Amino acid sequence: MRTFVYERATNPGDAPHLAAQSATGDESRAEYLAGGTTLFDLMKLDVMRPELVIDINPLAATSLGRIELSAHGLRLGALVRMADAADHAEIKTQYPVIAQSLQLAASQQIRNMASLGGNVLQRTRCTYFRDISYAECNKRNPGSGCAAMNGYNRSHAVLGGSDRCIATYAGDFAQALIALDAAVEIAGPDGARTIPFASLHRKPADRPDKETNLHPNEMIASFLIPATPWARRSLYLKVRDRQSYEFAIASAAVALDQQDGGAVRNVRIALGGVATVPWRAVEAEALIRGKPINEQNVRAAADAAFATAEGHGHNTFKVELGKRTLSRALQQAAALEI
Ligand SMILES: Cc1cc2nc3c(=O)[nH]c(=O)nc-3n(C[C@H](O)[C@H](O)[C@H](O)COP(=O)(O)OP(=O)(O)OC[C@H]3O[C@@H](n4cnc5c(N)ncnc54)[C@H](O)[C@@H]3O)c2cc1C
Ligand code: SF4
Repeated sequence: MRTFVYERATNPGDAPHLAAQSATGDESRAEYLAGGTTLFDLMKLDVMRPELVIDINPLAATSLGRIELSAHGLRLGALVRMADAADHAEIKTQYPVIAQSLQLAASQQIRNMASLGGNVLQRTRCTYFRDISYAECNKRNPGSGCAAMNGYNRSHAVLGGSDRCIATYAGDFAQALIALDAAVEIAGPDGARTIPFASLHRKPADRPDKETNLHPNEMIASFLIPATPWARRSLYLKVRDRQSYEFAIASAAVALDQQDGGAVRNVRIALGGVATVPWRAVEAEALIRGKPINEQNVRAAADAAFATAEGHGHNTFKVELGKRTLSRALQQAAALEI
């Protein structure tokens, strides 16, 4: 076991300063500890090697641990447990895609422990990343190559990859946040800032090791979900190898605002299980806007969503599976009785 320093943050403003103390130049040496279901896993596998672990759980007594609903929208603190948001009666009815994406994730035990902030920052499940006996992994060891490119890549991404990395973003909740135009509140050593959630994650490009646009030592404080006309008619459809306790091989978070006649006034689509980041399908949205939801229109939208998709052998089936998942999600959302 590698040694590390353990600290407890007792004040939200202090946590980023504590983290900054351990930094070397722009490199952070610290990790925040929430539920620990990703962090401890990867520390035990020797993939993550923080020198300082800052336990932020005492901050659950502050706004970081609260769910707040108002006429303007929903605010979810970063330390809210997945199970608490998934089981929340008003979230289930007013923001169903949020509750469903969390309910369909992991297991009850993990959802009881795991936080929303930790969830969006979970790392990829790429086997070559998680097993240090593989030398080639640009994400774990920049410049070393990518073992998945010509290796076993059934679970890997068909959208958003680069010649350096094709690892899939594994989470579910992030797609729901994108479908509802969420923002993320961030606390850092230099103060607080708020950015669209859709700009939090970075595609691998030539730096697969840099997964987000968080600055060194910044901490997620909360997620802000505006009250939109499409939030209630929203859902999360997850396709996986078994019915529970499994990551998505394809998923779609969709939110629809429909006119009385059935034409789509506005729509948001985010795809999971198929892309390197939580993937907003803007081309598909543009095609479906102003039209009724029917077989032909949803298929055209799905084709547009995957127009740039690239299979790598074992994962090529995800292109067609992803299209069918999106088509079905749109049809199910249109059929919801609200
Ligand atoms: C067996 C298994 C199955 C799973 N299945 C699914 C699934 O189907 N769908 C799914 O979405 N997820 C799944 N997960 C992932 C799980 O949901 C995440 O591990 C969990 O949500 C992470 O939350 P945590 O609070 O435990 O994070 P931690 O492990 O405490 O932290 C994770 C990372 O986020 C950082 N971090 C935590 N909180 C903050 C914050 N507020 N600000 C900045 N950084 C922070 C930590 O430093 C660390 O790097 C699964 C996990 C396991 C182990
Ligand atoms: S896909 Fe990414 S995470 Fe997986 S081996 Fe290649 S570089 Fe590493």
